[in-house]
Amino acid sequence: CGIVAYIGKREAYPVVIKGLKRLEYRGYDSAGVALLNGGDLKVYKKKGKVAELEDHVVGKDLHSVLAIGHTRWATHGEPCDRNAHPHLSGDGKLAMVHNGIIENYAQLKKELLNKGHQFTSDTDTEVLIHFIQEIKKSNQCSTEEALRIALKRVVGAYVILIVDEDNPDTLLAARKGSPLVIGVGKGEHFLASDASPIVEYTKEVVYVNDYEIAIVKADELILKNISNEIQTPYIQKLDVEL
Ligand code: GLU
Repeated sequence: CGIVAYIGKREAYPVVIKGLKRLEYRGYDSAGVALLNGGDLKVYKKKGKVAELEDHVVGKDLHSVLAIGHTRWATHGEPCDRNAHPHLSGDGKLAMVHNGIIENYAQLKKELLNKGHQFTSDTDTEVLIHFIQEIKKSNQCSTEEALRIALKRVVGAYVILIVDEDNPDTLLAARKGSPLVIGVGKGEHFLASDASPIVEYTKEVVYVNDYEIAIVKADELILKNISNEIQTPYIQKLDVEL
């Protein structure tokens, strides 16, 4: 399983699809992408190989400068189109991909069901993105702030990526226990589970630490810890030959 994202000036979809293929060696049962072009959010997902996702999107509008992608190794809910990532918040404005497990999802789901949330998948992931949106609504706060509050309650391991229709120039990422690498380019950023989807574009990478949140724009990378303190990104040089 794996995650890939791109934000910048290129067409984002081909970068993300190529990246997902580079991560295929990790194993997976489904694949999906969320594409954001201005305020227009599109989600395409499919059980099976990345190649099947590519067949599925033939003829569809794929134009975007921000995209997140996912290959799933099912832990909560059978492998099927409905359980494939990305998952949407209840208002359809936030899309999330996630590798890992939200161990206390059942408790969170119970609370959200009591508040009237309806779920379309059996995943722990959908619970988390609904939870973030619920916090956003009740606290009248930004998606970034809601993510930070949500992660303080989450038990488990995760790498997550979030795009927000109301904030189309920003990508949010967070990790605990699952790897996340950010490739730093000129006016663009590449995110992935490991450096293999990134090396062909840039050799400058930042390894995000546990409990850090990355706020990523085309030409800006901000890292914060869970207490909202800014962390200085440590840029490393990859010494790989292509
Ligand atoms: N727990 C999530 C699910 O079952 C993510 C699985 C993964 O790591 O791909 O959908």
